[in-house]
Amino acid sequence: MKFIVNHPNYSDMPHKFKSNGDIWWVSPSDKERAAWWDKKTKALSCVNRAEVAREIHPKEIKGLKPCQICGKELSIFYIYPNKNTLRKLNIISPEFQFLPFKEDIDAITSVLIEALGEEGLQRLRATFDVPENINENRESFLKYIKDNRKTRLSPGAMSNSPDRLDGFHTYNACCRSVQDTGRHTPNLARYSQDRRVYENWAEGNWNLSNRLMGEFNKFDLEIKCPSCGKARKMTADHIGPISLGFTHRPKFNPLCKACNSRKNNRMSFKDVLILKEDEKRGEQVISWHSKFIWDRLKNKVRSSSDAMELSKLMRTNLHHILILFSKISEQGFDGVLAKYLHPEYSFVDYKFEGFEPLKGPKKTIRKPLDNKNKEKNAQRYVRIAFESLEEYKSIENRNTKIWNSSKVDKYVSDLLILLSKGEEAEATILLFEALKQLASEAETIFDTNSSQSLPE
Ligand SMILES: [Zn+2]
Ligand SMILES: [Zn+2]
Repeated sequence: MKFIVNHPNYSDMPHKFKSNGDIWWVSPSDKERAAWWDKKTKALSCVNRAEVAREIHPKEIKGLKPCQICGKELSIFYIYPNKNTLRKLNIISPEFQFLPFKEDIDAITSVLIEALGEEGLQRLRATFDVPENINENRESFLKYIKDNRKTRLSPGAMSNSPDRLDGFHTYNACCRSVQDTGRHTPNLARYSQDRRVYENWAEGNWNLSNRLMGEFNKFDLEIKCPSCGKARKMTADHIGPISLGFTHRPKFNPLCKACNSRKNNRMSFKDVLILKEDEKRGEQVISWHSKFIWDRLKNKVRSSSDAMELSKLMRTNLHHILILFSKISEQGFDGVLAKYLHPEYSFVDYKFEGFEPLKGPKKTIRKPLDNKNKEKNAQRYVRIAFESLEEYKSIENRNTKIWNSSKVDKYVSDLLILLSKGEEAEATILLFEALKQLASEAETIFDTNSSQSLPE
């Protein structure tokens, strides 16, 4: 900390020391520090604060950051295989079983090639989809993977500016699961679920829905799966997936794990009909940002292939929406987006009586949360929503398929100009215009691809 705080790269950072002389390392919601990071982002032509944090990290330390919880040094750069890549790598190379955040990509490449030669290269090719025209040597493989397969790699330290002085979380990836409340192993299922809710900016009473989802996890008896008929432990599935822009609402479709993962981010024709019915009954099924595409297309779905096409388009649409949000957030205009988050749901907690997966709870009991807990939950929810935008940008930035629309581009640049002048209401109008434009372009694709079905 002393080395970093005295390093010239951080010389003009505000609030480096407290009045008693201690280093002021942790300073959440510090506006002046946030401004400092944003100024650096522009000055260094970085895409976001995370990139700045990596850029200015003193070269003397070689990108190695000690975890403040366990002391383990991990790199701040994208050099470790991420979870999915590691799984794939270990399936292809069962005799090695690489561990998370143990070996970086340099070490893995060396191990595989030294031990297996040509076969090792082929395994790397399969894991990282290295094209055939890349020369068969270690350096060219490494270069290709680092330049083109960044999305399959992960840094050992996650960004967290302006909260932390050096722009990185206190804990490294080694201790993330212990430090981030809700990620303790028994809660892992719930964790991965609720994190996705925040990351997708899903509306709905997330606290109630998370709690109800927890009941599915707790319920240990096996039940006949409504989809495949096998006796299995039930999981909670949303009829409208949140990854397509639907709300996180306390209504679930019980399915066994196998059926749930088979369904994966897709809606069937029947699902679309159920969602429309729920809407007629006054339920909010779709989140504000994805309402435009849903409203334009929901009545055009007439077959299961249409439902599949709509699922695909809504997934891409939400991807575009999150890129759009990350462009707003990286310029420091979080306020205009924060309006749409609902931390207040953490102020009430729920308990259930007589829960059964197929019937739901007999009774739902509301109970106020104690102050500390609700503050913590609310902060975590907001933090993850914005953090994911930052990650989104830094991961997606290089290889992303962004919208191909000059109209959307124009709305985005105009709305950023308005925000820089403080004209938030006008900017919000343009934000909605951009969402409408994305929806209208999705409709054009839908009309081309949908089954030219007969009139109803
Ligand atoms: Zn650690
Ligand atoms: Zn099943």
